[in-house]
Amino acid sequence: DLAPLRRALISVSDKTGLIDLGKALADRGVELLSTGGTAKALREAGLAVKDVSEVTNFPEMMDGRVKTLHPMVHGGLLALRDNGTHVQAMQEHGIPEIDLLIVNLYPFEAALARGAEYDEMIENIDIGGPAMIRAAAKNHGFVTTIVDVEDYDALVAELDANDGKTGYKFRQKMAQNAYARTAAYDAAVSNWMAGAAEVETPRRRAFAGQLKQTLRYGENPHQSASFYVDGADRPGVSNFVQHQGKELSYNNINDTDAAFELVSEFLPTDGPACAIIKHANPCGVARGETLTEAYQRAFDCDRTSAFGGIIALNQTLDAATAEAICEIFTEVVIAPGADAAAQEIFAKKKNLRLLTTPGLANPAAASVAFKQVSGGLLVQDRDNGMMSFDKLEVVTKRAPTQQELDDLLFAWTVAKHVKSNAIIYAKNRATVGIGAGQMSRVDSTRIAARKSADMAEVLGLAKPTVDGSVVASDAFFPFADGLLTAAEAGATAVIQPGGSIRDEDVIKAADDAGLAMVFTRQRHFRH
Ligand code: 5GP
Repeated sequence: DLAPLRRALISVSDKTGLIDLGKALADRGVELLSTGGTAKALREAGLAVKDVSEVTNFPEMMDGRVKTLHPMVHGGLLALRDNGTHVQAMQEHGIPEIDLLIVNLYPFEAALARGAEYDEMIENIDIGGPAMIRAAAKNHGFVTTIVDVEDYDALVAELDANDGKTGYKFRQKMAQNAYARTAAYDAAVSNWMAGAAEVETPRRRAFAGQLKQTLRYGENPHQSASFYVDGADRPGVSNFVQHQGKELSYNNINDTDAAFELVSEFLPTDGPACAIIKHANPCGVARGETLTEAYQRAFDCDRTSAFGGIIALNQTLDAATAEAICEIFTEVVIAPGADAAAQEIFAKKKNLRLLTTPGLANPAAASVAFKQVSGGLLVQDRDNGMMSFDKLEVVTKRAPTQQELDDLLFAWTVAKHVKSNAIIYAKNRATVGIGAGQMSRVDSTRIAARKSADMAEVLGLAKPTVDGSVVASDAFFPFADGLLTAAEAGATAVIQPGGSIRDEDVIKAADDAGLAMVFTRQRHFRH
């Protein structure tokens, strides 16, 4: 059994909670040892603290690059207290035992998030901090290591429950957390460097995450699951405020991510937009004059599937839209804000989760996407391909009308977010038929048209909504059959990447059917 804690080394960049912790430790008879800035803050709060430089007999030097890297510090962290030669070495050199290490690192991740220059990033790489963390965590048989502000309270509670000592289980748990922290830190440094130094195909890649939430279960009840985030400061499913409703499930998070990433393609300055997602695929996406209209038009694409869906909006949720949404059961609504009246309306729907984010995601942002395969990870650039009118190549005799062009680009944007093979019919900036995730492109084309016909019946329309629509295909039509199926269903214009060896046949078929067709020369497979 260990003696009660006698000495703590505190060296923190984030001074949150520092004074309270310092007081709590001092009250419990723990001597405080600190680096420059931390010692200053503690002293200003009236606490007695010893400078590390006094112990090392060396000044902090080289702009803080060398502060704690010294045997007088590392000896006190690493010495085995029950090993005669270790104890003798401590005595011989007058090394003070350090029982508790509190470190949080230079804010490298924060510097990354604000896009700091190369030199500033380099200076934000902490050296002494991780060295101490790794030393103390290795010696968790004797030393307690705290690397997160959120663990301060747990530490004090642990001391109070154990007569000023920490239990082995606690030290072990904190050591595990400590190594994950230094791993995540170095992962951030290495991944930044891969990009900043344009390292082609890095030989090693590091991945790390921080637990945001333990989940009740995974995709299915027999799978356990949790949600880890990379800590980057961006609007999205890793970074939201939940106003009401139960905890999000694994599938909710997956679907909400898909919904939010899709709706973020539509700039609020171009007007309201709404996306409704089921099983990670959209079942309706639309723009509208008002947010309510955008929702209603998205809903009208496939009212049956929208039940129990996830709704993402590109603007602040208002009361009228909240009322409209409340007419059916919805799992999650995510938006960059919700006004007070809307929140009041939702408050009556106990099961509905309302999430707000600080803005929309940036669809053009470059980042890395991972997919797990058995025994490894596939790593690729995130699909941040953007399309604009000037990039479209008209390949048919007939050029699309302005209205068709507008809808083609809308349908194409949605196609990027639909699982392959993806076929999207759209009219007046609303999807009217979505065919997702089929092994054959013709099947996706048929399914999308069929869903549109079903909806026409529900809505009591004389003709399927697909009549007079445009169609987008996430990859090229390998044969004319898919294209002709779309034309028969009533599509008048087509957008697709092109690039098939049978492009000529497909273009001829389009010309014969009087279709207008544009090539994007960019594919949006999504699996
Ligand atoms: P302070 O604000 O107390 O002057 O500095 C605290 C920060 O210094 C902590 O984030 C800690 O990880 C870091 N640190 C402690 N020792 C060293 C060292 O020897 N070298 C470097 N680069 N950073 C250190």
